[in-house]
Amino acid sequence: MTGLAGGPLTRERCAALDATDPLASLRDRFQVPDDVVYLDGNSLGAPPRAAADTVRHLLDEEWGRGLIRSWNEAGWIDAPRRIGDKLGRLIGAAPGQVVVSDSTSVNLFKLLTAALRARPGRRVILSERDNFPTDLYVAEGVARGMDAVLRIVDRGELEGAIDESVAVLMLTHVDYRTGFMHDMGSLTEVAHAGGVVALWDLSHSVAAVPLAVDEWGVDLAVGCGYKHLCGGPGAPAHLYVASRLQEEMRSSIQGWMGHADTFGFEAEYRPAPGVLRHLCGTPPMLAMAALEAAVDLFGSIDTAEVRRKSVALGDLLIRLVDERLAGRGLVVASPRDGACRGSQVSLSHPQGYRVMRALIDRGVIGDFRPPDLMRFGLVPLYVRHVDIWDAVEVLREVIDGELWRDLAYAVRATVT
Ligand SMILES: *Cc1c(COP(=O)(O)O)cnc(C)c1O
Repeated sequence: MTGLAGGPLTRERCAALDATDPLASLRDRFQVPDDVVYLDGNSLGAPPRAAADTVRHLLDEEWGRGLIRSWNEAGWIDAPRRIGDKLGRLIGAAPGQVVVSDSTSVNLFKLLTAALRARPGRRVILSERDNFPTDLYVAEGVARGMDAVLRIVDRGELEGAIDESVAVLMLTHVDYRTGFMHDMGSLTEVAHAGGVVALWDLSHSVAAVPLAVDEWGVDLAVGCGYKHLCGGPGAPAHLYVASRLQEEMRSSIQGWMGHADTFGFEAEYRPAPGVLRHLCGTPPMLAMAALEAAVDLFGSIDTAEVRRKSVALGDLLIRLVDERLAGRGLVVASPRDGACRGSQVSLSHPQGYRVMRALIDRGVIGDFRPPDLMRFGLVPLYVRHVDIWDAVEVLREVIDGELWRDLAYAVRATVT
């Protein structure tokens, strides 16, 4: 790890890394309270300061003065495509293949049904047991409604489960529990060799790890706007349809925003060309304004540098746990090899839930996922090396002082 080879780690050495960090100045572009260490950006990214400006401008000028004229004059009607194209650059998609719309769950529904329709002879959606729950729920519902089957296998059995009955391989790139990252390019290749459509969920990847969906031959993808991308709570999600598939993919939610002539008010539905047919209703402009600020911010920075620092922060956290928290029942549940780890580190502990509650009470905000995983999300734009040091020290105090035994932490409550 750059700068940390040899000798025990100290807070001073972490501070020295921050002092030479080329991304350090970006922290000021976000609103992060000084009295917390925020390590939950994988669930809800912190607000970019610019989002307050774009939302206020929308309220005061575009909505307040422009009123309905702003659908055209302020470019509201083009927002799903405009922001989609900018977001496409973050995932390695050429223009015309991404739109911003709806939630990830809804986009998944739209693309799964489209893919099943496009492969009428094949009735299986293939996924893995550890996929994110909403993805499996949506797939199960789609299968039920379309006379198809959801086949769920263990991660190691995915390739062997591909046969001529499979229509779609539906996977999430980065595992929300452990941060394990699939090799998207090679699994897509395996899918294609079997005549299968590859549909990827990028929710934990977009703005966190380098993506090259065009280069990797991905067919379809969905992703989330409010995690690493920092688009705001419940931010609109996005979807990607590769150009070569756009004509054969039909949306099963045929709304007017996906009509070839939205304002023609025709009696019959005609799908819009390309990816636009996957829009359905009116875009939520207040939310779109905040998301666009975030997408613009990410579009202006060097993603290779973001990835380098993300891996360095993860390596640092793992090394501190090894060096300073050994023998305390903590197990690193994330890949130790940064190359197959997303931008998070998860630690398991038998009292993980209560330990996380105690951490949050002391200003170290991560989150907990059953059965015993404490997750620490690493957004390199505003997380510093000293934050990792401080978080590990608070974790040590909580465990050594048995502070998690506080009765207040025994009752299960919602943790972020
Ligand atoms: C966060 C996340 C979602 C979120 O779906 P919503 O419809 O936005 O609630 C979906 N899939 C994955 C893999 C996620 O990580």
